[in-house]
Amino acid sequence: MGRRETMRVKCLRISVTDRCNLRCVYCRPPDDCDFINQNEILTFEEIHRIVRLFADCGIDRVRLTGGEPLVRRNMTSLIARLAAIKDIKELTLTTNGVWLQPMADKLKAAGLDRVNISVDSLEAENYKQITGCDVLSRVVDGIHKAIEVGLQPVKVNAVILRGINHSQIPALAGMSIDLPVTVRFIEYCPTNKNTHPANDYMPYSEIRNVIERAFGPLSNAAIGRSSGPALYFKIKDSAGAIGFIAGRSTTFCRSCNRIRLTSDGKIKPCLYSAHTYDLKRLIRSRASDRQMRDLLKRIISEKGNYTKLSSLKEEFSMCKVGG
Ligand code: SAM
Repeated sequence: MGRRETMRVKCLRISVTDRCNLRCVYCRPPDDCDFINQNEILTFEEIHRIVRLFADCGIDRVRLTGGEPLVRRNMTSLIARLAAIKDIKELTLTTNGVWLQPMADKLKAAGLDRVNISVDSLEAENYKQITGCDVLSRVVDGIHKAIEVGLQPVKVNAVILRGINHSQIPALAGMSIDLPVTVRFIEYCPTNKNTHPANDYMPYSEIRNVIERAFGPLSNAAIGRSSGPALYFKIKDSAGAIGFIAGRSTTFCRSCNRIRLTSDGKIKPCLYSAHTYDLKRLIRSRASDRQMRDLLKRIISEKGNYTKLSSLKEEFSMCKVGG
């Protein structure tokens, strides 16, 4: 079977800002103040138009990310506009959770379906060491609020760094026993020479061993319509589930069904590829819907040409591309 036949691009991941209120050691170095100029960032009208046209081309899932999406002003109005696009079946958001508790009700009312919340430690000092901020209790409140208002299933994302937060693996996995959340362990991918060194990496197999030593064997679990690249399991008798995103120790190009739109309007068909398409330039040169749609269809059909294995690698910053 050809590579292209195995993938159907269904999911558009949009970075709505490159700004963030945290400084996670593996994501953005503390001295990185190299922000994209505000007038280079896509407006809500431009994002709405791109999503509407992508929906015409078969995309039916949209994830809003960043930077931190909840630091962009009036996010609820963007969510309401995107939720009203008929063919978009699922609208989700990835957040660090710092502003989630006060915003969850409004996000839900605007039409958001669910959230992924990043939390790499449940120990306050350790959390601060990783993110640079003393806000763990706000994030935990955000997780509870998301469950309460029905932004479900809530997924909790944790990047594990050896020697920094690997001792938190049992506590993080244990959240899935009592709470109806899926705790996903993400392998650290070195993306930028200024972030944490590559030898902090802990592979999926080792993380899984730690969890099984603490809680016994994991059983397979199927989650949602399409789990994409994540593998899902359950601890016995747990309310939630455990997931692994092994982006480094495995290659999941064949199950990758997403493309990314950066906050300054570039389509990145593969996270690891240096190749981008400049949609903002096209929009701002007054391209018609038909011209735009033609390009989007081409991007989707060419997606299989850009894979981790064949791509020209480049350094990038996850907070700019949108993790
Ligand atoms: N601010 C939001 C958040 O914290 O979830 C959204 C943006 S953040 C870039 C999205 C996801 O990318 C987070 O789950 C984060 O842990 C993950 N991420 C960032 N840098 C990473 C890296 N070098 N390796 C693996 N995952 C990374």
